[in-house]
Amino acid sequence: MSKDSVMHTPGASQAACPDEQDLAAYLDGRLPPEERDRFKAHLDQCAACREAVAELGALLGVDLPDAPDEVKGRAKRLRNS
Ligand SMILES: [Zn+2]
Repeated sequence: MSKDSVMHTPGASQAACPDEQDLAAYLDGRLPPEERDRFKAHLDQCAACREAVAELGALLGVDLPDAPDEVKGRAKRLRNS
């Protein structure tokens, strides 16, 4: 799988973005609770990852159980487009 397919542009002041594996694990509900919390905290401050989660969620057709409403809405729009 090509690493170049997803463009992550982490801001200077925030932790590195989770990679695609982590995104997929989050969407599948496979992340341990502790990492899940960290992931969600990261989503709160990283627009690039909210976008990535929405896109991947739409692609996989999952419901994004506890993602922010903004992400769910975007995924829904992507899925319907
Ligand atoms: Zn990020």
